[in-house]
Amino acid sequence: MTDADRARRIFGLETEYGVQHWNPQGRPLSPEEVVRYLFRPVVEWGRSSNVFVANGSRLYLDVGSHPEYATAECSTLDELIASDGAGDLLLHDLVVQAEERMAADGVGGRIHLYRNNADSSGSSYGSHENYLLRRRTEYRRLTEALVPFLVSRQILVGAGRVVPAGTWPEGEGPAHFAFSQRADFVQDGVSSSTTRSRPIINTRDEPHADASEYRRLHVIVGDTNLSEHTHLLRFGATDLLLRMIEAGFPLGDRVVAHPTRAVRQISHDLTGTARIALREGEASALELQEHYLERARAFVAAEGAHHDRVGEVLTLWGEVLDAVRTGDRSRIEDRIDWAIKLRLLEDYRARHDLGWDAPRLAQLDLAFHDIDPDRGLFRMLLRRGAVARLLPEDAARSAVETAPPTTRARVRADFVARARERGLDYAVDWTTLKLTDHPLHAIVTKDPFDTSSAAVDRLFERIA
Ligand code: ATP
Ligand code: MG
Ligand code: MG
Repeated sequence: MTDADRARRIFGLETEYGVQHWNPQGRPLSPEEVVRYLFRPVVEWGRSSNVFVANGSRLYLDVGSHPEYATAECSTLDELIASDGAGDLLLHDLVVQAEERMAADGVGGRIHLYRNNADSSGSSYGSHENYLLRRRTEYRRLTEALVPFLVSRQILVGAGRVVPAGTWPEGEGPAHFAFSQRADFVQDGVSSSTTRSRPIINTRDEPHADASEYRRLHVIVGDTNLSEHTHLLRFGATDLLLRMIEAGFPLGDRVVAHPTRAVRQISHDLTGTARIALREGEASALELQEHYLERARAFVAAEGAHHDRVGEVLTLWGEVLDAVRTGDRSRIEDRIDWAIKLRLLEDYRARHDLGWDAPRLAQLDLAFHDIDPDRGLFRMLLRRGAVARLLPEDAARSAVETAPPTTRARVRADFVARARERGLDYAVDWTTLKLTDHPLHAIVTKDPFDTSSAAVDRLFERIA
Protein backbone atom coordinates (compact mmCIF):
# COMPACT_ATOMS: atom_id res chain seq x y z
CA MET A 1 0.00 0.00 0.00
CA THR A 2 1.36 3.41 -0.95
CA ASP A 3 0.75 6.81 0.70
CA ALA A 4 -1.62 7.71 -2.10
CA ASP A 5 -3.62 4.56 -1.29
CA ARG A 6 -3.86 5.66 2.31
CA ALA A 7 -5.89 8.70 1.26
CA ARG A 8 -8.30 6.53 -0.71
CA ARG A 9 -11.12 4.24 0.25
CA ILE A 10 -12.81 1.25 -1.32
CA PHE A 11 -16.58 1.49 -1.75
CA GLY A 12 -19.05 -1.20 -2.75
CA LEU A 13 -22.84 -1.23 -3.00
CA GLU A 14 -25.06 -4.31 -2.85
CA THR A 15 -28.58 -4.04 -4.25
CA GLU A 16 -31.32 -6.61 -3.77
CA TYR A 17 -34.13 -6.25 -6.30
CA GLY A 18 -37.83 -6.80 -5.75
CA VAL A 19 -39.43 -9.21 -8.25
CA GLN A 20 -42.95 -9.46 -9.57
CA HIS A 21 -44.70 -11.24 -12.41
CA TRP A 22 -47.75 -9.48 -13.74
CA ASN A 23 -50.02 -11.61 -15.87
CA PRO A 24 -53.42 -10.31 -16.92
CA GLN A 25 -54.20 -13.59 -18.73
CA GLY A 26 -53.45 -16.17 -16.10
CA ARG A 27 -51.79 -17.18 -12.87
CA PRO A 28 -48.78 -15.03 -12.00
CA LEU A 29 -45.56 -16.95 -11.48
CA SER A 30 -44.20 -17.04 -7.96
CA PRO A 31 -41.00 -15.03 -7.31
CA GLU A 32 -39.11 -18.36 -7.18
CA GLU A 33 -40.33 -19.24 -10.66
CA VAL A 34 -39.51 -15.77 -11.97
CA VAL A 35 -35.92 -15.81 -10.71
CA ARG A 36 -35.41 -19.26 -12.19
CA TYR A 37 -36.28 -17.80 -15.60
CA LEU A 38 -34.20 -14.69 -14.91
CA PHE A 39 -31.06 -16.57 -13.96
CA ARG A 40 -31.16 -19.17 -16.73
CA PRO A 41 -28.74 -17.21 -18.96
CA VAL A 42 -26.52 -16.57 -15.94
CA VAL A 43 -26.33 -20.27 -15.13
CA GLU A 44 -25.63 -21.07 -18.79
CA TRP A 45 -22.84 -18.46 -18.81
CA GLY A 46 -21.23 -19.27 -15.48
CA ARG A 47 -22.64 -22.70 -14.50
CA SER A 48 -23.91 -21.16 -11.30
CA SER A 49 -26.43 -18.61 -10.07
CA ASN A 50 -23.56 -16.94 -8.22
CA VAL A 51 -21.10 -15.38 -10.67
CA PHE A 52 -18.61 -12.58 -11.10
CA VAL A 53 -19.45 -10.76 -14.32
CA ALA A 54 -17.25 -9.04 -16.89
CA ASN A 55 -16.96 -5.77 -14.93
CA GLY A 56 -15.70 -7.48 -11.76
CA SER A 57 -19.04 -7.24 -9.94
CA ARG A 58 -20.99 -10.10 -8.40
CA LEU A 59 -24.44 -11.19 -9.54
CA TYR A 60 -26.21 -13.80 -7.44
CA LEU A 61 -29.26 -15.29 -5.86
CA ASP A 62 -29.17 -15.48 -2.10
CA VAL A 63 -31.81 -17.19 0.05
CA GLY A 64 -35.19 -15.76 -0.85
CA SER A 65 -36.01 -14.62 -4.33
CA HIS A 66 -34.26 -11.30 -4.61
CA PRO A 67 -31.60 -11.13 -7.31
CA GLU A 68 -28.59 -9.30 -5.94
CA TYR A 69 -25.93 -7.27 -7.69
CA ALA A 70 -22.87 -6.29 -5.64
CA THR A 71 -20.71 -3.71 -7.38
CA ALA A 72 -17.06 -4.37 -7.89
CA GLU A 73 -14.68 -2.55 -5.56
CA CYS A 74 -14.62 1.14 -6.49
CA SER A 75 -12.32 3.87 -5.21
CA THR A 76 -14.16 6.90 -6.56
CA LEU A 77 -17.81 7.87 -6.28
CA ASP A 78 -18.10 8.14 -10.06
CA GLU A 79 -16.89 4.55 -10.45
CA LEU A 80 -19.38 3.41 -7.84
CA ILE A 81 -22.35 5.18 -9.41
CA ALA A 82 -21.47 3.85 -12.86
CA SER A 83 -20.92 0.29 -11.61
CA ASP A 84 -24.23 0.37 -9.75
CA GLY A 85 -26.00 1.65 -12.87
CA ALA A 86 -24.46 -1.21 -14.83
CA GLY A 87 -26.26 -3.63 -12.51
CA ASP A 88 -29.65 -2.26 -13.58
CA LEU A 89 -28.73 -2.69 -17.23
CA LEU A 90 -27.57 -6.27 -16.67
CA LEU A 91 -30.73 -7.15 -14.81
CA HIS A 92 -33.00 -5.47 -17.32
CA ASP A 93 -31.28 -7.50 -20.02
CA LEU A 94 -32.12 -10.64 -18.06
CA VAL A 95 -35.76 -9.51 -17.83
CA VAL A 96 -35.97 -9.16 -21.61
CA GLN A 97 -34.46 -12.62 -22.15
CA ALA A 98 -36.67 -14.19 -19.49
CA GLU A 99 -39.83 -12.71 -21.01
CA GLU A 100 -38.84 -14.17 -24.39
CA ARG A 101 -38.29 -17.62 -22.91
CA MET A 102 -41.50 -17.43 -20.96
CA ALA A 103 -43.41 -16.50 -24.10
CA ALA A 104 -41.82 -19.48 -25.87
CA ASP A 105 -43.04 -21.67 -22.99
CA GLY A 106 -46.53 -20.24 -23.38
CA VAL A 107 -46.32 -18.17 -20.18
CA GLY A 108 -47.60 -14.66 -20.80
CA GLY A 109 -47.26 -11.48 -18.82
CA ARG A 110 -44.35 -9.36 -17.82
CA ILE A 111 -41.61 -9.40 -15.24
CA HIS A 112 -40.98 -6.33 -13.13
CA LEU A 113 -37.80 -5.69 -11.17
CA TYR A 114 -37.83 -2.96 -8.57
CA ARG A 115 -35.07 -0.98 -6.95
CA ASN A 116 -37.01 -0.63 -3.72
CA ASN A 117 -36.91 -2.14 -0.25
CA ALA A 118 -40.36 -3.42 0.65
CA ASP A 119 -42.99 -5.53 -1.05
CA SER A 120 -46.72 -5.70 -0.51
CA SER A 121 -46.43 -8.83 1.65
CA GLY A 122 -44.44 -6.90 4.24
CA SER A 123 -40.98 -8.28 3.60
CA SER A 124 -37.96 -6.05 3.17
CA TYR A 125 -34.75 -6.36 1.22
CA GLY A 126 -31.66 -4.31 1.34
CA SER A 127 -29.16 -1.89 -0.01
CA HIS A 128 -25.86 -2.54 1.73
CA GLU A 129 -23.00 -0.07 1.70
CA ASN A 130 -19.41 -1.21 2.09
CA TYR A 131 -16.58 1.08 3.18
CA LEU A 132 -12.98 0.04 3.65
CA LEU A 133 -11.55 1.08 7.03
CA ARG A 134 -8.02 0.96 8.40
CA ARG A 135 -7.91 -1.46 11.28
CA ARG A 136 -6.10 1.03 13.53
CA THR A 137 -9.23 3.17 14.04
CA GLU A 138 -11.01 1.90 17.12
CA TYR A 139 -14.03 0.21 15.61
CA ARG A 140 -16.51 0.46 18.47
CA ARG A 141 -15.90 4.18 18.80
CA LEU A 142 -16.30 4.61 15.06
CA THR A 143 -19.63 2.81 14.86
CA GLU A 144 -20.95 4.65 17.92
CA ALA A 145 -20.02 8.01 16.41
CA LEU A 146 -21.65 7.01 13.13
CA VAL A 147 -25.09 5.94 14.43
CA PRO A 148 -26.58 9.45 15.00
CA PHE A 149 -25.45 10.41 11.52
CA LEU A 150 -26.90 7.27 9.94
CA VAL A 151 -30.28 7.40 11.68
CA SER A 152 -30.79 10.99 10.50
CA ARG A 153 -29.18 10.59 7.04
CA GLN A 154 -32.52 9.45 5.56
CA ILE A 155 -33.72 13.07 5.46
CA LEU A 156 -31.00 13.55 2.86
CA VAL A 157 -31.08 10.34 0.90
CA GLY A 158 -34.23 8.37 1.73
CA ALA A 159 -36.05 6.98 -1.31
CA GLY A 160 -39.46 8.07 -0.01
CA ARG A 161 -42.45 5.83 0.65
CA VAL A 162 -46.23 5.97 0.73
CA VAL A 163 -46.91 4.46 4.13
CA PRO A 164 -50.26 2.73 4.75
CA ALA A 165 -52.52 3.69 7.64
CA GLY A 166 -51.71 2.03 10.94
CA THR A 167 -47.94 2.18 10.53
CA TRP A 168 -46.89 5.12 12.68
CA PRO A 169 -47.20 5.69 15.56
CA GLU A 170 -46.97 1.89 15.88
CA GLY A 171 -50.35 0.43 14.85
CA GLU A 172 -51.99 3.85 14.43
CA GLY A 173 -51.83 6.97 12.29
CA PRO A 174 -53.20 7.79 8.83
CA ALA A 175 -51.54 6.96 5.49
CA HIS A 176 -48.80 9.47 4.67
CA PHE A 177 -45.51 10.03 2.89
CA ALA A 178 -42.29 9.16 4.73
CA PHE A 179 -38.61 9.75 3.98
CA SER A 180 -37.55 6.12 3.99
CA GLN A 181 -38.39 2.75 2.47
CA ARG A 182 -36.34 0.83 4.97
CA ALA A 183 -36.88 2.63 8.30
CA ASP A 184 -39.88 0.63 9.50
CA PHE A 185 -37.99 -2.63 8.98
CA VAL A 186 -34.85 -1.80 10.94
CA GLN A 187 -34.70 -4.08 13.97
CA ASP A 188 -31.39 -3.45 15.62
CA GLY A 189 -28.64 -0.87 16.19
CA VAL A 190 -25.09 -2.10 15.79
CA SER A 191 -25.18 -5.86 15.58
CA SER A 192 -22.97 -8.75 14.63
CA SER A 193 -25.83 -11.10 13.87
CA THR A 194 -26.60 -11.84 10.27
CA THR A 195 -28.24 -9.29 8.01
CA ARG A 196 -31.49 -11.11 8.73
CA SER A 197 -31.84 -9.14 11.96
CA ARG A 198 -31.57 -5.88 9.95
CA PRO A 199 -29.27 -3.78 12.06
CA ILE A 200 -28.13 -0.25 11.20
CA ILE A 201 -24.55 -1.46 10.98
CA ASN A 202 -23.58 -5.10 10.63
CA THR A 203 -20.34 -5.73 12.49
CA ARG A 204 -19.51 -9.17 11.07
CA ASP A 205 -15.76 -8.99 10.55
CA GLU A 206 -15.25 -10.02 6.95
CA PRO A 207 -12.87 -7.51 5.38
CA HIS A 208 -12.38 -9.17 1.96
CA ALA A 209 -8.82 -7.87 2.33
CA ASP A 210 -5.75 -8.28 4.53
CA ALA A 211 -7.43 -8.64 7.93
CA SER A 212 -4.43 -7.37 9.85
CA GLU A 213 -4.66 -4.04 8.07
CA TYR A 214 -8.31 -3.51 7.13
CA ARG A 215 -11.91 -3.78 8.17
CA ARG A 216 -14.99 -3.46 6.01
CA LEU A 217 -17.79 -1.32 7.39
CA HIS A 218 -21.13 -2.82 6.37
CA VAL A 219 -24.02 -0.32 6.58
CA ILE A 220 -27.46 -1.96 6.33
CA VAL A 221 -29.82 0.91 7.15
CA GLY A 222 -29.95 2.65 3.76
CA ASP A 223 -32.68 2.73 1.12
CA THR A 224 -31.97 1.66 -2.43
CA ASN A 225 -31.43 4.90 -4.31
CA LEU A 226 -32.20 5.81 -7.90
CA SER A 227 -30.81 9.27 -8.61
CA GLU A 228 -27.09 9.58 -9.23
CA HIS A 229 -26.98 12.80 -7.21
CA THR A 230 -28.60 11.03 -4.26
CA HIS A 231 -25.92 8.33 -4.48
CA LEU A 232 -23.28 11.05 -4.53
CA LEU A 233 -24.65 12.63 -1.36
CA ARG A 234 -25.14 9.29 0.40
CA PHE A 235 -21.61 7.99 -0.17
CA GLY A 236 -19.91 11.39 -0.24
CA ALA A 237 -21.32 12.53 3.11
CA THR A 238 -20.78 9.15 4.79
CA ASP A 239 -17.19 9.06 3.56
CA LEU A 240 -16.63 12.54 5.03
CA LEU A 241 -18.01 11.37 8.37
CA LEU A 242 -15.67 8.38 8.32
CA ARG A 243 -12.73 10.62 7.49
CA MET A 244 -13.49 12.93 10.39
CA ILE A 245 -13.77 10.00 12.79
CA GLU A 246 -10.58 8.42 11.46
CA ALA A 247 -8.71 11.72 11.81
CA GLY A 248 -9.98 12.24 15.37
CA PHE A 249 -11.71 15.46 14.28
CA PRO A 250 -14.06 16.57 17.10
CA LEU A 251 -17.70 15.65 16.35
CA GLY A 252 -19.17 16.15 19.82
CA ASP A 253 -20.40 12.96 21.41
CA ARG A 254 -24.03 12.65 20.56
CA VAL A 255 -25.38 9.17 21.32
CA VAL A 256 -28.87 8.17 20.20
CA ALA A 257 -30.72 6.56 23.11
CA HIS A 258 -32.98 4.25 21.05
CA PRO A 259 -31.66 3.93 17.48
CA THR A 260 -34.41 1.76 16.02
CA ARG A 261 -37.11 4.05 17.43
CA ALA A 262 -35.22 7.12 16.22
CA VAL A 263 -35.03 5.73 12.67
CA ARG A 264 -38.83 5.39 12.58
CA GLN A 265 -39.54 8.74 14.23
CA ILE A 266 -37.34 10.54 11.73
CA SER A 267 -38.71 8.73 8.69
CA HIS A 268 -42.31 9.68 9.50
CA ASP A 269 -41.68 13.38 10.11
CA LEU A 270 -41.12 15.36 6.91
CA THR A 271 -40.49 18.54 8.90
CA GLY A 272 -37.28 17.06 10.33
CA THR A 273 -38.14 18.49 13.75
CA ALA A 274 -39.33 15.44 15.74
CA ARG A 275 -37.38 15.30 19.01
CA ILE A 276 -35.01 12.34 19.18
CA ALA A 277 -33.88 11.15 22.61
CA LEU A 278 -30.13 11.25 23.05
CA ARG A 279 -28.28 9.73 25.94
CA GLU A 280 -27.97 13.32 27.12
CA GLY A 281 -30.76 15.64 26.02
CA GLU A 282 -32.45 15.46 22.64
CA ALA A 283 -32.10 16.76 19.10
CA SER A 284 -34.06 16.76 15.83
CA ALA A 285 -32.86 15.10 12.63
CA LEU A 286 -32.36 18.57 11.14
CA GLU A 287 -30.23 19.67 14.08
CA LEU A 288 -28.14 16.52 13.91
CA GLN A 289 -27.53 16.89 10.17
CA GLU A 290 -26.85 20.64 10.45
CA HIS A 291 -24.25 19.82 13.06
CA TYR A 292 -22.54 17.18 10.88
CA LEU A 293 -22.58 19.45 7.85
CA GLU A 294 -20.99 22.28 9.85
CA ARG A 295 -18.30 19.84 11.06
CA ALA A 296 -17.69 18.54 7.54
CA ARG A 297 -17.28 22.07 6.19
CA ALA A 298 -14.81 22.89 8.94
CA PHE A 299 -12.93 19.65 8.27
CA VAL A 300 -12.65 20.30 4.55
CA ALA A 301 -11.62 23.92 5.18
CA ALA A 302 -8.83 22.65 7.44
CA GLU A 303 -7.68 19.58 5.49
CA GLY A 304 -8.57 20.42 1.91
CA ALA A 305 -10.85 18.45 -0.39
CA HIS A 306 -9.72 14.83 -0.91
CA HIS A 307 -11.58 14.35 -4.21
CA ASP A 308 -13.10 16.44 -7.02
CA ARG A 309 -16.69 16.20 -5.89
CA VAL A 310 -16.33 17.21 -2.23
CA GLY A 311 -17.65 20.70 -3.03
CA GLU A 312 -20.72 19.27 -4.76
CA VAL A 313 -21.38 16.95 -1.82
CA LEU A 314 -21.29 19.82 0.70
CA THR A 315 -23.45 22.08 -1.47
CA LEU A 316 -26.12 19.45 -2.06
CA TRP A 317 -26.07 18.48 1.62
CA GLY A 318 -26.83 22.12 2.51
CA GLU A 319 -29.53 22.42 -0.15
CA VAL A 320 -31.40 19.38 1.13
CA LEU A 321 -31.31 20.64 4.72
CA ASP A 322 -32.62 24.03 3.54
CA ALA A 323 -35.44 22.25 1.71
CA VAL A 324 -36.44 20.24 4.78
CA ARG A 325 -36.20 23.29 7.06
CA THR A 326 -38.27 25.60 4.85
CA GLY A 327 -40.55 23.05 3.19
CA ASP A 328 -39.55 24.53 -0.17
CA ARG A 329 -38.29 21.52 -2.07
CA SER A 330 -38.15 23.10 -5.52
CA ARG A 331 -34.32 23.18 -5.60
CA ILE A 332 -33.87 19.45 -4.88
CA GLU A 333 -36.77 17.74 -6.61
CA ASP A 334 -34.64 16.98 -9.66
CA ARG A 335 -31.85 15.26 -7.66
CA ILE A 336 -32.98 13.80 -4.33
CA ASP A 337 -34.99 10.58 -4.48
CA TRP A 338 -37.61 11.26 -1.82
CA ALA A 339 -38.22 14.78 -3.13
CA ILE A 340 -38.48 13.63 -6.75
CA LYS A 341 -41.06 11.05 -5.76
CA LEU A 342 -42.97 13.40 -3.48
CA ARG A 343 -43.27 15.97 -6.27
CA LEU A 344 -44.64 13.35 -8.65
CA LEU A 345 -47.15 12.04 -6.13
CA GLU A 346 -48.23 15.48 -4.90
CA ASP A 347 -48.94 16.54 -8.48
CA TYR A 348 -50.99 13.41 -9.03
CA ARG A 349 -52.84 13.84 -5.76
CA ALA A 350 -53.74 17.42 -6.60
CA ARG A 351 -54.91 16.51 -10.10
CA HIS A 352 -57.15 13.69 -8.89
CA ASP A 353 -58.02 14.97 -5.44
CA LEU A 354 -56.70 11.87 -3.65
CA GLY A 355 -55.74 11.15 -0.06
CA TRP A 356 -52.52 9.31 0.78
CA ASP A 357 -54.57 6.13 1.33
CA ALA A 358 -55.63 5.94 -2.35
CA PRO A 359 -54.44 2.58 -3.79
CA ARG A 360 -53.38 4.39 -6.96
CA LEU A 361 -50.65 6.24 -5.02
CA ALA A 362 -49.20 3.01 -3.67
CA GLN A 363 -49.11 1.72 -7.27
CA LEU A 364 -47.30 4.83 -8.48
CA ASP A 365 -44.86 4.52 -5.60
CA LEU A 366 -44.05 0.98 -6.74
CA ALA A 367 -43.82 1.94 -10.43
CA PHE A 368 -41.36 4.70 -9.49
CA HIS A 369 -38.81 1.99 -8.66
CA ASP A 370 -39.31 -0.22 -11.74
CA ILE A 371 -35.94 -0.50 -13.52
CA ASP A 372 -37.53 -0.86 -16.94
CA PRO A 373 -36.41 2.11 -19.05
CA ASP A 374 -39.89 2.49 -20.56
CA ARG A 375 -42.14 1.53 -17.68
CA GLY A 376 -40.32 2.83 -14.62
CA LEU A 377 -41.56 6.26 -13.50
CA PHE A 378 -38.17 7.39 -12.24
CA ARG A 379 -36.67 6.33 -15.59
CA MET A 380 -39.36 8.27 -17.40
CA LEU A 381 -38.55 11.45 -15.44
CA LEU A 382 -34.87 10.93 -16.17
CA ARG A 383 -35.53 10.53 -19.87
CA ARG A 384 -37.65 13.69 -19.94
CA GLY A 385 -34.89 15.66 -18.22
CA ALA A 386 -36.99 16.21 -15.07
CA VAL A 387 -34.28 14.37 -13.12
CA ALA A 388 -30.68 15.57 -13.43
CA ARG A 389 -27.82 13.26 -14.32
CA LEU A 390 -24.43 13.45 -12.66
CA LEU A 391 -22.46 11.20 -15.02
CA PRO A 392 -22.42 11.16 -18.82
CA GLU A 393 -25.41 9.26 -20.17
CA ASP A 394 -23.32 6.29 -21.38
CA ALA A 395 -21.37 5.82 -18.12
CA ALA A 396 -23.45 2.89 -16.85
CA ARG A 397 -23.43 1.18 -20.26
CA SER A 398 -19.63 1.44 -20.43
CA ALA A 399 -19.39 0.03 -16.92
CA VAL A 400 -21.22 -3.17 -17.96
CA GLU A 401 -18.14 -4.41 -19.78
CA THR A 402 -15.39 -2.48 -17.98
CA ALA A 403 -14.23 -2.89 -14.38
CA PRO A 404 -13.44 0.14 -12.21
CA PRO A 405 -9.87 0.92 -13.32
CA THR A 406 -8.46 1.89 -9.90
CA THR A 407 -8.96 -1.30 -7.88
CA ARG A 408 -8.25 -5.03 -7.98
CA ALA A 409 -11.62 -5.47 -9.72
CA ARG A 410 -9.79 -4.92 -13.02
CA VAL A 411 -7.46 -7.82 -12.20
CA ARG A 412 -10.44 -10.05 -11.51
CA ALA A 413 -12.13 -8.94 -14.73
CA ASP A 414 -8.94 -9.60 -16.66
CA PHE A 415 -8.59 -13.06 -15.13
CA VAL A 416 -12.20 -14.02 -15.90
CA ALA A 417 -11.90 -12.78 -19.48
CA ARG A 418 -8.70 -14.74 -20.13
CA ALA A 419 -9.95 -17.94 -18.50
CA ARG A 420 -13.13 -17.81 -20.57
CA GLU A 421 -11.22 -17.05 -23.75
CA ARG A 422 -9.27 -20.26 -23.21
CA GLY A 423 -12.34 -22.24 -22.15
CA LEU A 424 -10.87 -22.98 -18.71
CA ASP A 425 -12.96 -23.60 -15.59
CA TYR A 426 -12.32 -21.09 -12.85
CA ALA A 427 -13.46 -20.06 -9.40
CA VAL A 428 -13.36 -16.50 -8.18
CA ASP A 429 -14.28 -14.56 -5.07
CA TRP A 430 -13.38 -11.09 -3.74
CA THR A 431 -9.84 -12.15 -2.77
CA THR A 432 -8.94 -15.22 -4.84
CA LEU A 433 -8.70 -16.14 -8.49
CA LYS A 434 -8.14 -19.73 -9.42
CA LEU A 435 -8.27 -22.13 -12.33
CA THR A 436 -10.06 -25.29 -11.30
CA ASP A 437 -7.44 -27.55 -12.91
CA HIS A 438 -4.49 -25.64 -11.40
CA PRO A 439 -5.45 -25.18 -7.76
CA LEU A 440 -1.85 -24.75 -6.63
CA HIS A 441 -1.48 -21.61 -8.71
CA ALA A 442 -4.31 -19.72 -7.06
CA ILE A 443 -3.82 -15.95 -7.01
CA VAL A 444 -4.59 -14.13 -3.80
CA THR A 445 -5.67 -10.49 -4.21
CA LYS A 446 -5.66 -9.28 -0.62
CA ASP A 447 -4.82 -5.68 -1.49
CA PRO A 448 -7.94 -4.02 -2.93
CA PHE A 449 -5.86 -1.17 -4.38
CA ASP A 450 -3.51 -3.43 -6.33
CA THR A 451 -4.33 -3.10 -10.03
CA SER A 452 -1.39 -5.11 -11.35
CA SER A 453 -2.15 -8.14 -13.48
CA ALA A 454 1.44 -9.45 -13.30
CA ALA A 455 0.41 -12.51 -11.29
CA VAL A 456 -2.35 -13.27 -13.81
CA ASP A 457 0.17 -12.96 -16.68
CA ARG A 458 2.52 -15.37 -14.90
CA LEU A 459 -0.25 -17.87 -14.23
CA PHE A 460 -1.34 -18.03 -17.86
CA GLU A 461 2.29 -18.21 -19.06
CA ARG A 462 3.00 -21.05 -16.65
CA ILE A 463 0.09 -23.19 -17.77
CA ALA A 464 0.56 -22.44 -21.49
P1 ATP B 1 -23.62 -10.99 1.98
O1 ATP B 1 -24.14 -9.70 1.47
O2 ATP B 1 -23.91 -12.12 1.07
O3 ATP B 1 -23.98 -11.23 3.39
P2 ATP B 1 -21.06 -9.75 1.69
O4 ATP B 1 -21.40 -8.59 2.52
O5 ATP B 1 -19.68 -10.29 1.74
O6 ATP B 1 -22.04 -10.93 1.95
P3 ATP B 1 -21.26 -9.37 -1.23
O7 ATP B 1 -22.64 -9.43 -1.76
O8 ATP B 1 -20.31 -10.43 -1.66
O9 ATP B 1 -21.45 -9.21 0.29
O10 ATP B 1 -20.66 -7.94 -1.59
C1 ATP B 1 -19.49 -7.44 -1.02
C2 ATP B 1 -19.37 -5.96 -1.35
O11 ATP B 1 -18.22 -5.44 -0.69
C3 ATP B 1 -19.16 -5.67 -2.82
O12 ATP B 1 -19.92 -4.55 -3.22
C4 ATP B 1 -17.67 -5.38 -2.93
O13 ATP B 1 -17.33 -4.48 -3.96
C5 ATP B 1 -17.39 -4.76 -1.60
N1 ATP B 1 -16.01 -4.98 -1.16
C6 ATP B 1 -15.18 -6.00 -1.48
N2 ATP B 1 -14.01 -5.88 -0.84
C7 ATP B 1 -14.10 -4.76 -0.09
C8 ATP B 1 -13.22 -4.11 0.80
N3 ATP B 1 -12.04 -4.61 1.06
N4 ATP B 1 -13.67 -2.97 1.39
C9 ATP B 1 -14.89 -2.47 1.12
N5 ATP B 1 -15.76 -3.05 0.30
C10 ATP B 1 -15.38 -4.18 -0.30
MG1 MG C 1 -24.44 -9.33 -0.59
MG1 MG D 1 -23.46 -7.67 2.20
